[in-house]
Amino acid sequence: MTPRTLFHTTPIYYVNDVPHAGHAYCTIACDALARARRLHGDQVFFLTGTDEHGQNIERIAREKGVHEQDYCDQISGVFRALWDSLDIRYDGFIRTTDEIHKAGVLKLWERLRVAKTPDGQDAVYRGKYAGWYCPRCEAFKTDDEMKQPGNICPDHERPCEWTEEENFFFRLSAYQTVLDDLIRSDKMRIAPESRKNEVLAVMKQGLQDFSISRARVKWGIQIPDDPSHVFYVWVDALSNYITAIGYADDAPEFQKFWGPEAERMHVIGKEIIRFHCLYWPGLLIAAGLLPPSRVFAHGWMTKDGKKLSKSTGNIIDTRVLADQYGVDAVRYYFLRETSFGQDWDFSEIGLAQRYNSDLANDFGNLVSRSLTMISKYCDGKIPAWVDQEPSGFLLFPQLHDETVFRQYDSLNFSAALNEIWGHIGEANQAIVKFAPWNVAKDPGRTAELNAFLYRLAERVRLVALLASPVIPSSAEKVLDMLGIPLGTKARTSTEFGLLQEGQPLGPITPLFPRIDIKKAPVAQEKPPTVNDETKPQAPTSAPPPPATQGNVIASSPQPDGPSSNVIARIQSVSDGTKQPPPTTTTPPEPELVGIEAFGALDLRTAKVTAAEKIKGSKKLLKLQLDVGGVPRQIVSGIAEAYEPEQLVGRTIIVIANLKPAKLMGVESHGMLLAATVDGKAVLAGFEKEVPTGTRVK
Ligand SMILES: [Zn+2]
Repeated sequence: MTPRTLFHTTPIYYVNDVPHAGHAYCTIACDALARARRLHGDQVFFLTGTDEHGQNIERIAREKGVHEQDYCDQISGVFRALWDSLDIRYDGFIRTTDEIHKAGVLKLWERLRVAKTPDGQDAVYRGKYAGWYCPRCEAFKTDDEMKQPGNICPDHERPCEWTEEENFFFRLSAYQTVLDDLIRSDKMRIAPESRKNEVLAVMKQGLQDFSISRARVKWGIQIPDDPSHVFYVWVDALSNYITAIGYADDAPEFQKFWGPEAERMHVIGKEIIRFHCLYWPGLLIAAGLLPPSRVFAHGWMTKDGKKLSKSTGNIIDTRVLADQYGVDAVRYYFLRETSFGQDWDFSEIGLAQRYNSDLANDFGNLVSRSLTMISKYCDGKIPAWVDQEPSGFLLFPQLHDETVFRQYDSLNFSAALNEIWGHIGEANQAIVKFAPWNVAKDPGRTAELNAFLYRLAERVRLVALLASPVIPSSAEKVLDMLGIPLGTKARTSTEFGLLQEGQPLGPITPLFPRIDIKKAPVAQEKPPTVNDETKPQAPTSAPPPPATQGNVIASSPQPDGPSSNVIARIQSVSDGTKQPPPTTTTPPEPELVGIEAFGALDLRTAKVTAAEKIKGSKKLLKLQLDVGGVPRQIVSGIAEAYEPEQLVGRTIIVIANLKPAKLMGVESHGMLLAATVDGKAVLAGFEKEVPTGTRVK
C-alpha cells in the first residue's frame, strides 16, 4: 500500500478570547484524524493555529492597555497550553503574526494583483464599498442577514454600522462557473451533503465580489500598493493554510502537502462554510494555485439545547472536565456521542455514563480481566501462539481494521468507535463462552487455553491501537501493560500476531476507575436507594449467609419493608418455612399475589463490572454492578457456582429497591435473581442483550 499524502487543518482560532469547548471539539477531532491516519501509515500534516489580526484585537488591546502583539502572544499561548493538556499533537501551529505568514500573504497578493479572471478582467480592482458592517464578525451583512429593527447582527446581538470606504475588491463573481464545477464535480468535496447543498444554494443567488482590504484598521498586514490599507482579516486568515507550510519560499512541505497528489482538507464549523468553500478557493484559483480538495463542516455543540455563550454563562470548561474525568474520557465523549457533522447537546451526566459504561465497564474490564488471566494461568507472560481455534468455534472473527480506518477518514468518529466497541464486546462475550477458569482446571487443555489467551491478548492490543487516535494515553497504558517494548512494531501496527511469546506483562494498573454518578436517569426515574452509602439502614451485625436452596437466591436476608417481605415469601416457599398469609405466585403453591405487590419490586437489569470473593466466606461474592450508569454493590451467595471472572460483563437481574444490608461486614444494596439446580446457583438472564438499567416486569 502506498502511503497517501494527507493535509488537514482546523480553522485558526481568533484570539479575541480564550478557547472555548467548540474550539476543543474541532481540534480534538482533527487530532484524532491525524493520529488515525498516522497509524494507518499515511503521510500526515495536521495544522492548527491562531488568527491574530483585525479590528477586534485592536479594540481589545486598547481596552486592556497593552500592545496588540503582547495581547496576541498571551492568548495564543493559552491555546497552545490547552492543546498540550488535551494531548493534541499537531504538525504545525501558525500565527498570523508570524513572519512566515506575512511573507506568504504578500506573495499571494503579488499574484492576485496581476491576475486575470477567466473572462479576462482584472481579478482585483479598487472600488467603493458601502454597507452594514458588523465589527465583531468583521464582515458586511446583507439585509437578509440582519435582524430587524435596528440592523442587528444575529451572531453578536449588536447593531451593525453603516460603513463606506474605498477598498480593494476581489472579483469573485467571475469565478461562478469555475467554482460551481469544482463543487458539483466533487473535485472539492464538501461534506456533509447538506452543507454542499447549502453552498450551491448560495451560488444560485449569484456570487458577489468582496472587498479584501480595510482602510480603517491598523492591526494587520499592510497592502504594499496602499499602506493605508491592511488585508481584510478573512483573506489574511484563510491564507494561513498555505503560508504555514512554506508557500512564501515554495518549501518542499508546501509542494508536497498542497500538491496535486495530496488531499488538502479543511475541517471547519458550519458557520464559516462560505469563506472556505467560495472565497478561499476563488482566491487560490485566481492566484494559480490548487483549491482545497475537501471541506468538512462539523456541527455545533450546545448545552441544554442552547448555543454556548460566555455572556449567558452557558459554557463548558474543557479543562475542568478533563481534570474531573481525564483527558481521554473527554475526547472519547466528544467524538462518540454524535456524528461529527451534526449538532449535538453536551451533558455531563451523559459523559459520566459513557465513562462508566464504555470506558470503565467494556474496555477497562476487558483489559483487566484479560491481563489478570494471563497473569494467573500463564505465569504473567504472553502465552504461545497455538495454531488452532480454541474449542472449535470462532471466538475471534476477523477484526476489520480497514473499516475503522475508513470511518475515521470520513470523520465519522462515532461509527469508528462503535465498530471498535463491537470488537470489545465480542471479546468480553468470548471470555464468558470459553470460560478459561474452567479450561485451566484441565491440564490436558493447556494448548487450547494458550491459544485462547494469546488471541485475547492480541484482541486487547488491536482494540487499544484502533482506539488510540481518540484515547491516546490510555491506549499507551494498555500497550505498556501488555509488556510491549517501546519502538517495536507491535506498538504501531494493527497487523495480527505481533505479540511475542514469553514477553512478560508490565504492571497492571487501573485504566478507568469507576466514578459515581449522583443523578443518573435511573435514579431520577424511580429512586431505589442507589449510592446511599452514607446512610446504611441495615443492621450492622453480619447476618447468616444467604440461603441457596430456594428458587430465588437472596443476596442478603432482608430486614422488613414492603418489598423485602415479598422476597422473603418467595424465598421461603421452597424453604418450607412458615409464612405469613401466602400471597405469592411462585409455583408450586397456587397462591396468588396482587399486581401491586409485584409492582412494589423494582427489578432492573444490571451489568457486572467487577467481582471478587469475600475473605472468610466460601459462598459469598462481592459484585460491582452498573445499573443504567449508576454503580452499586451487592453481596451474593453464588461463590460455589461462579468464579468471579466468569461474572464480569454479564447482565443479571437485580431487585434494586431493597434496603441495604451488610453481609460479613460488606455493604449489599439489592439482590440478584437466580435459580438453584442441584444445589448450585444458575443466574437468570436474557436471550439477547438488554441495556443495563432496564426495568424488568
Ligand atoms: Zn457579528
